[in-house]
Amino acid sequence: MTADVFQQLYGFTPEGVWAAPGRVNLIGEHTDYNDGFVLPFALTRTTVAAASRRDDGVLRLHSSAEASGAPVELRLDDLRPGGTHGWTAYPAGIAWALRDAGHRITGADLHYDSTVPIGAGLSSSHALEVVTALALSDLFGLGLERWRLARLCQRAENVFVGAPTGIMDQTASACCTEGHALFLDTRDLSQRHIPLDLAAHGLRLLVIDTQVKHDHSEGGYGDRRRGCEEAAAALGVEALRDIAHDRLDEALARLDDENSRRLVRHVVTENHRVEQVVARLEAGDPRSVGPLLTAGHASLRDDFRVSCPELDLAVATALDTGALGARMTGGGFGGSAIALVEEEAAQKVSDALTAAFRAAGHRPPRIFTATPGPGAHRIS
Ligand code: ADP
Ligand code: MG
Repeated sequence: MTADVFQQLYGFTPEGVWAAPGRVNLIGEHTDYNDGFVLPFALTRTTVAAASRRDDGVLRLHSSAEASGAPVELRLDDLRPGGTHGWTAYPAGIAWALRDAGHRITGADLHYDSTVPIGAGLSSSHALEVVTALALSDLFGLGLERWRLARLCQRAENVFVGAPTGIMDQTASACCTEGHALFLDTRDLSQRHIPLDLAAHGLRLLVIDTQVKHDHSEGGYGDRRRGCEEAAAALGVEALRDIAHDRLDEALARLDDENSRRLVRHVVTENHRVEQVVARLEAGDPRSVGPLLTAGHASLRDDFRVSCPELDLAVATALDTGALGARMTGGGFGGSAIALVEEEAAQKVSDALTAAFRAAGHRPPRIFTATPGPGAHRIS
């Protein structure tokens, strides 16, 4: 289908079709820019790109998610950090980052389709980046390893788009494997694939898209990030990852402002929770993960303060209706929450969420069951 639209747009068949997934983060929030641990998995919802090479230095971009009819046309030589606006900044940033790293990219035509909800905190923006990076890497025979693609996407986003994001989301989309969560050490990108077959245990992971995104989300992210860096400097460590969980109290005692203490407490306990979740999953006991998810939410709400009323309502409602654990997922200030539920409770929890949102005057959340899909791959 994506190839058919490409054909209609550009008048010839694409050389190939690639897919990259959105992600949900099981646990490990706001740890990736502190050199810490994260545990995301790939959704089965993907952004698909049909693409062909060009040799005239032109990049043509089209997405079915954007209303405009004709493809956007850009010249590779004109691409400058901060110089491209709107959705095309993401794919253009990838082409820029590849060329800036010395790779020979001579132009391309691309068309995108996506089933990743956009703006829901499930990383549609990274799916778009990663699918572009993989398509261009394959088309131009670059053979870049997955972790390199992720680093390249991060650079495109940090430098070209101008968003100071971490490394989790790109790595999840590029490196996850089907049926597994990705235990990632964001300091050196070392990875362990953790089997995650919740259905085999009679469980489900619900994703609850609140459909809200509060205005201060970007500023809030930047603030937290700076706060963490300042706290690390005050404690004389490279990153908050370097504060061991059993030395937390000692570190807190050395900080003189309450805000720094809250940030440090979240990051240090969250890293510890990721390790505990991994241990429990590896021990074949996914039910016992629930309270750790809920503790993660409390930490994000009370210490890191990146939750919002809609996310808190989703978590509280899921827990009240019998969820084993629930938390916001992603950067916060809106986006999605997750709830770990017994299979037979899934409908009851979903209905309760819809009713609670209605009663509070919010739009109804979009709810779906997430299972771990494959990372980015070539389709044809
Ligand atoms: P999230 O990544 O959580 O979905 P963001 O606000 O980070 O939310 O990214 C959403 C933005 O990414 C959109 O506004 C758009 O610019 C871009 N985007 C994502 N997917 C697509 C797509 N399939 N086509 C065009 N633009 C997209
Ligand atoms: Mg995003």
